[in-house]
Amino acid sequence: MFSDKDIQGLYDHKGILIGVFISSKLWHAIEDEVNPIIDKHLGTSEENETVQVMEEPIEDWENFLKFWDFRYPVEKNVVCDNCGAETSDWTADTPKKFLLKAANIAGLVSFQCLQCKSRIIKRHFKDHIKYEIIPFKED
Ligand SMILES: [Zn+2]
Repeated sequence: MFSDKDIQGLYDHKGILIGVFISSKLWHAIEDEVNPIIDKHLGTSEENETVQVMEEPIEDWENFLKFWDFRYPVEKNVVCDNCGAETSDWTADTPKKFLLKAANIAGLVSFQCLQCKSRIIKRHFKDHIKYEIIPFKED
């Protein structure tokens, strides 16, 4: 059985609804029915800029993991010092908080904070990770 924990509104600090969280359990139960409805709306909203393209270079990330030879375990947390967003595992957030922008086997991984659009760069060295943040600037 499902409870109201399986579907929850997500609000920003001003109390404005920014999205809806659906648990994977509930999603799997309803996706076949809901997907056609979503597809219909996505298909007619080409000019709708609120639909974000969530393309991530996941293969690059997987390659990066394959060649992991740092002296610490794989780390998936990301912190945005600009707006305070953080996650312990960016691959598991629903909805996403950080978008992977780049990853390479030399140890550079960068993300975009989806809350404030800052660029977060993690440089992996043998013994430590160095964080850099480039706040988003409007042109
Ligand atoms: Zn941020």
